[in-house]
Amino acid sequence: MKKALVLLILCLGCSKSSDPGSSTIPTPSTGATTGGTSGGTTTPSMGTASEVPSYFKLIYGASKITSDGTYVTIESSGAPDHKSVYYATNSSLYENFSGKTFNGLTFAKNPNSISTGLYTFKIPIKPVAATKVTATPLGAIGISLNGVPFYNQYAGPNQPLAGEMTSFDQYYGHPAPGGKYHYHVEPLYLTQVKADKMALLGFLLDGFPVYGPWESGKAVTNANLDVLHGHTHATTEFPAGIYHYHITQEDPYINGNGFYGTPGTVSQ
Ligand SMILES: [Zn+2]
Ligand SMILES: [Zn+2]
Repeated sequence: MKKALVLLILCLGCSKSSDPGSSTIPTPSTGATTGGTSGGTTTPSMGTASEVPSYFKLIYGASKITSDGTYVTIESSGAPDHKSVYYATNSSLYENFSGKTFNGLTFAKNPNSISTGLYTFKIPIKPVAATKVTATPLGAIGISLNGVPFYNQYAGPNQPLAGEMTSFDQYYGHPAPGGKYHYHVEPLYLTQVKADKMALLGFLLDGFPVYGPWESGKAVTNANLDVLHGHTHATTEFPAGIYHYHITQEDPYINGNGFYGTPGTVSQ
Protein backbone atom coordinates (compact mmCIF):
# COMPACT_ATOMS: atom_id res chain seq x y z
CA MET A 1 0.00 0.00 0.00
CA LYS A 2 2.80 2.35 0.92
CA LYS A 3 4.49 1.47 -2.35
CA ALA A 4 1.33 2.26 -4.28
CA LEU A 5 1.03 5.55 -2.48
CA VAL A 6 4.59 6.49 -3.28
CA LEU A 7 4.01 5.54 -6.90
CA LEU A 8 0.87 7.58 -7.00
CA ILE A 9 2.58 10.60 -5.52
CA LEU A 10 5.47 10.13 -7.94
CA CYS A 11 2.94 9.89 -10.73
CA LEU A 12 1.12 12.99 -9.62
CA GLY A 13 4.55 14.53 -9.30
CA CYS A 14 5.25 13.62 -12.94
CA SER A 15 2.12 15.02 -14.40
CA LYS A 16 2.32 18.12 -12.32
CA SER A 17 6.08 18.49 -12.32
CA SER A 18 5.93 21.95 -13.79
CA ASP A 19 3.23 23.06 -11.38
CA PRO A 20 4.78 25.09 -8.55
CA GLY A 21 1.78 24.19 -6.42
CA SER A 22 2.61 20.48 -6.66
CA SER A 23 4.04 20.47 -3.15
CA THR A 24 0.51 20.76 -1.81
CA ILE A 25 -0.64 17.66 -3.63
CA PRO A 26 0.62 14.93 -1.30
CA THR A 27 -1.62 15.93 1.60
CA PRO A 28 -4.99 15.73 -0.13
CA SER A 29 -3.89 12.84 -2.33
CA THR A 30 -2.96 10.80 0.75
CA GLY A 31 -6.48 11.12 2.04
CA ALA A 32 -7.95 10.37 -1.33
CA THR A 33 -5.76 7.32 -1.74
CA THR A 34 -6.76 5.89 1.63
CA GLY A 35 -10.43 6.50 1.00
CA GLY A 36 -10.18 5.13 -2.48
CA THR A 37 -8.53 1.95 -1.31
CA SER A 38 -11.00 1.09 1.42
CA GLY A 39 -13.84 2.27 -0.79
CA GLY A 40 -12.65 -0.31 -3.31
CA THR A 41 -15.63 -2.43 -2.32
CA THR A 42 -17.61 -0.50 -4.93
CA THR A 43 -15.53 -2.33 -7.52
CA PRO A 44 -15.96 -5.98 -6.55
CA SER A 45 -13.00 -7.27 -8.52
CA MET A 46 -10.44 -5.09 -6.71
CA GLY A 47 -7.87 -6.89 -4.60
CA THR A 48 -8.49 -4.81 -1.50
CA ALA A 49 -12.20 -5.57 -1.59
CA SER A 50 -11.82 -8.69 0.53
CA GLU A 51 -11.85 -6.51 3.61
CA VAL A 52 -14.95 -7.06 5.76
CA PRO A 53 -16.74 -3.73 6.27
CA SER A 54 -16.66 -2.53 9.87
CA TYR A 55 -20.42 -2.75 10.33
CA PHE A 56 -20.47 -6.48 9.59
CA LYS A 57 -17.75 -6.94 12.20
CA LEU A 58 -20.35 -5.85 14.76
CA ILE A 59 -21.85 -9.36 14.43
CA TYR A 60 -19.86 -10.49 17.45
CA GLY A 61 -21.59 -13.88 17.61
CA ALA A 62 -20.22 -14.94 14.23
CA SER A 63 -17.59 -17.67 14.30
CA LYS A 64 -16.13 -16.49 10.99
CA ILE A 65 -16.69 -13.55 8.63
CA THR A 66 -15.01 -13.30 5.24
CA SER A 67 -15.57 -11.20 2.16
CA ASP A 68 -15.09 -11.73 -1.56
CA GLY A 69 -15.71 -8.06 -2.22
CA THR A 70 -19.32 -8.59 -3.29
CA TYR A 71 -20.66 -10.72 -0.45
CA VAL A 72 -19.71 -11.28 3.14
CA THR A 73 -19.92 -14.89 4.26
CA ILE A 74 -20.87 -15.17 7.91
CA GLU A 75 -20.77 -18.41 9.86
CA SER A 76 -22.59 -18.87 13.13
CA SER A 77 -23.80 -21.70 15.35
CA GLY A 78 -27.08 -19.85 15.85
CA ALA A 79 -27.08 -20.69 19.56
CA PRO A 80 -27.63 -17.69 21.85
CA ASP A 81 -24.87 -16.27 24.04
CA HIS A 82 -27.43 -15.47 26.71
CA LYS A 83 -29.21 -17.60 29.23
CA SER A 84 -32.37 -19.41 28.29
CA VAL A 85 -34.83 -21.80 29.83
CA TYR A 86 -34.41 -23.79 26.61
CA TYR A 87 -30.79 -24.75 27.30
CA ALA A 88 -30.30 -28.18 28.87
CA THR A 89 -30.53 -27.88 32.65
CA ASN A 90 -26.87 -28.94 33.00
CA SER A 91 -25.71 -26.10 30.71
CA SER A 92 -24.10 -23.03 32.27
CA LEU A 93 -26.47 -21.00 30.09
CA TYR A 94 -29.57 -22.63 31.51
CA GLU A 95 -31.79 -20.30 33.53
CA ASN A 96 -35.30 -21.06 34.65
CA PHE A 97 -38.07 -18.77 33.48
CA SER A 98 -41.74 -18.37 34.25
CA GLY A 99 -44.27 -15.59 34.29
CA LYS A 100 -44.84 -13.06 31.55
CA THR A 101 -43.21 -12.99 28.14
CA PHE A 102 -43.77 -10.95 24.96
CA ASN A 103 -46.91 -8.78 24.90
CA GLY A 104 -47.65 -9.71 28.51
CA LEU A 105 -48.47 -13.30 27.59
CA THR A 106 -48.00 -16.00 30.17
CA PHE A 107 -44.98 -18.08 29.29
CA ALA A 108 -45.57 -21.68 28.24
CA LYS A 109 -42.44 -23.68 27.40
CA ASN A 110 -42.37 -25.58 24.15
CA PRO A 111 -40.92 -29.12 24.15
CA ASN A 112 -37.72 -28.22 22.26
CA SER A 113 -34.23 -27.52 23.59
CA ILE A 114 -31.43 -25.48 22.04
CA SER A 115 -29.02 -27.25 19.73
CA THR A 116 -25.91 -25.90 18.05
CA GLY A 117 -26.02 -25.74 14.28
CA LEU A 118 -23.97 -24.18 11.54
CA TYR A 119 -25.41 -21.35 9.53
CA THR A 120 -23.61 -19.88 6.56
CA PHE A 121 -25.05 -16.55 5.51
CA LYS A 122 -23.97 -14.97 2.23
CA ILE A 123 -25.03 -11.32 2.33
CA PRO A 124 -24.44 -8.58 -0.24
CA ILE A 125 -21.97 -5.96 0.99
CA LYS A 126 -23.48 -3.13 -1.02
CA PRO A 127 -27.23 -3.70 -0.79
CA VAL A 128 -29.40 -2.12 -3.45
CA ALA A 129 -33.16 -1.86 -3.80
CA ALA A 130 -34.55 -4.75 -5.82
CA THR A 131 -36.86 -4.08 -8.76
CA LYS A 132 -39.06 -6.95 -7.63
CA VAL A 133 -39.84 -7.80 -4.00
CA THR A 134 -38.88 -11.29 -2.82
CA ALA A 135 -40.98 -12.70 0.02
CA THR A 136 -39.09 -13.76 3.14
CA PRO A 137 -38.75 -17.53 3.53
CA LEU A 138 -39.48 -19.62 6.60
CA GLY A 139 -36.30 -20.27 8.58
CA ALA A 140 -33.51 -17.73 8.81
CA ILE A 141 -34.16 -14.39 7.08
CA GLY A 142 -31.17 -12.64 8.62
CA ILE A 143 -28.66 -12.66 11.43
CA SER A 144 -28.58 -10.71 14.66
CA LEU A 145 -25.40 -9.37 16.22
CA ASN A 146 -25.08 -12.31 18.61
CA GLY A 147 -25.31 -14.79 15.74
CA VAL A 148 -28.90 -15.91 16.37
CA PRO A 149 -31.03 -15.93 13.21
CA PHE A 150 -34.05 -13.71 12.67
CA TYR A 151 -37.22 -15.45 11.48
CA ASN A 152 -40.22 -13.81 9.88
CA GLN A 153 -43.71 -13.23 11.26
CA TYR A 154 -45.03 -16.72 10.56
CA ALA A 155 -44.93 -19.84 12.68
CA GLY A 156 -45.21 -22.02 9.57
CA PRO A 157 -46.62 -21.80 6.04
CA ASN A 158 -49.35 -19.15 6.37
CA GLN A 159 -49.59 -19.80 10.09
CA PRO A 160 -49.68 -16.67 12.22
CA LEU A 161 -47.11 -16.34 14.94
CA ALA A 162 -49.70 -15.63 17.63
CA GLY A 163 -50.01 -19.28 18.62
CA GLU A 164 -46.36 -19.63 19.52
CA MET A 165 -45.66 -16.31 21.17
CA THR A 166 -46.31 -17.76 24.60
CA SER A 167 -43.19 -19.89 24.14
CA PHE A 168 -40.77 -16.94 23.82
CA ASP A 169 -38.21 -17.17 26.62
CA GLN A 170 -36.76 -14.50 28.93
CA TYR A 171 -35.07 -12.82 25.93
CA TYR A 172 -37.97 -13.38 23.49
CA GLY A 173 -36.42 -16.18 21.46
CA HIS A 174 -37.32 -19.85 21.23
CA PRO A 175 -36.09 -23.07 19.60
CA ALA A 176 -37.91 -24.80 16.76
CA PRO A 177 -38.39 -28.57 16.69
CA GLY A 178 -34.83 -29.83 16.24
CA GLY A 179 -33.46 -27.09 18.47
CA LYS A 180 -32.76 -24.17 16.15
CA TYR A 181 -33.08 -21.07 18.29
CA HIS A 182 -34.35 -17.85 16.68
CA TYR A 183 -35.97 -14.46 17.17
CA HIS A 184 -39.26 -13.42 15.55
CA VAL A 185 -39.48 -10.26 17.65
CA GLU A 186 -37.26 -7.85 19.58
CA PRO A 187 -34.25 -9.70 21.01
CA LEU A 188 -34.24 -8.36 24.55
CA TYR A 189 -30.67 -9.41 25.24
CA LEU A 190 -29.47 -7.04 22.53
CA THR A 191 -31.86 -4.19 23.28
CA GLN A 192 -31.54 -4.30 27.08
CA VAL A 193 -28.23 -5.94 28.00
CA LYS A 194 -25.72 -5.55 25.16
CA ALA A 195 -26.99 -2.27 23.72
CA ASP A 196 -30.27 -0.37 23.71
CA LYS A 197 -33.57 -0.06 21.89
CA MET A 198 -32.17 2.28 19.24
CA ALA A 199 -29.14 0.14 18.36
CA LEU A 200 -28.24 -1.80 15.25
CA LEU A 201 -29.40 -5.36 15.90
CA GLY A 202 -28.35 -7.23 12.77
CA PHE A 203 -28.84 -7.61 9.03
CA LEU A 204 -31.36 -9.31 6.80
CA LEU A 205 -30.23 -11.51 3.93
CA ASP A 206 -30.48 -8.61 1.48
CA GLY A 207 -27.75 -6.75 3.37
CA PHE A 208 -29.96 -4.00 4.77
CA PRO A 209 -29.55 -3.42 8.50
CA VAL A 210 -32.12 -4.01 11.22
CA TYR A 211 -32.48 -1.48 14.02
CA GLY A 212 -34.24 -1.59 17.36
CA PRO A 213 -37.79 -0.54 18.19
CA TRP A 214 -36.90 3.00 19.19
CA GLU A 215 -35.61 5.96 17.27
CA SER A 216 -34.76 9.46 18.54
CA GLY A 217 -36.00 8.43 21.96
CA LYS A 218 -39.44 7.14 21.01
CA ALA A 219 -41.03 3.93 19.80
CA VAL A 220 -41.17 3.26 16.06
CA THR A 221 -44.57 2.06 14.91
CA ASN A 222 -45.66 0.39 11.69
CA ALA A 223 -47.06 3.77 10.64
CA ASN A 224 -43.50 5.13 10.52
CA LEU A 225 -42.44 2.39 8.09
CA ASP A 226 -43.26 1.17 4.60
CA VAL A 227 -44.88 -2.20 3.82
CA LEU A 228 -41.50 -3.91 3.96
CA HIS A 229 -41.07 -2.50 7.47
CA GLY A 230 -38.32 -0.05 6.76
CA HIS A 231 -37.43 3.48 5.75
CA THR A 232 -34.37 5.51 4.77
CA HIS A 233 -32.30 7.98 6.77
CA ALA A 234 -28.84 8.37 8.26
CA THR A 235 -27.89 6.05 11.12
CA THR A 236 -24.87 5.80 13.41
CA GLU A 237 -23.27 3.07 11.29
CA PHE A 238 -24.38 4.56 7.95
CA PRO A 239 -24.07 8.35 8.31
CA ALA A 240 -24.68 8.87 4.59
CA GLY A 241 -28.14 7.33 4.98
CA ILE A 242 -29.42 3.84 4.24
CA TYR A 243 -32.66 1.90 3.96
CA HIS A 244 -33.13 -0.09 7.16
CA TYR A 245 -35.71 -2.22 8.88
CA HIS A 246 -36.97 -1.58 12.39
CA ILE A 247 -38.22 -4.16 14.83
CA THR A 248 -41.55 -3.04 16.23
CA GLN A 249 -43.93 -4.26 18.89
CA GLU A 250 -46.63 -5.10 16.35
CA ASP A 251 -46.93 -7.62 13.53
CA PRO A 252 -44.87 -8.13 11.33
CA TYR A 253 -42.29 -7.27 14.04
CA ILE A 254 -39.15 -7.44 11.85
CA ASN A 255 -40.01 -7.57 8.17
CA GLY A 256 -43.22 -7.02 6.28
CA ASN A 257 -44.00 -8.35 2.87
CA GLY A 258 -40.50 -9.19 1.73
CA PHE A 259 -36.96 -7.99 1.19
CA TYR A 260 -36.30 -4.44 0.06
CA GLY A 261 -33.12 -5.61 -1.65
CA THR A 262 -32.13 -8.80 -3.40
CA PRO A 263 -31.53 -11.42 -0.74
CA GLY A 264 -28.33 -13.41 -0.50
CA THR A 265 -28.45 -17.00 0.64
CA VAL A 266 -28.27 -19.00 3.85
CA SER A 267 -27.48 -22.64 4.41
CA GLN A 268 -28.82 -23.94 7.68
ZN1 LIG B 1 -40.37 -19.64 15.89
ZN1 LIG C 1 -35.09 4.43 11.11
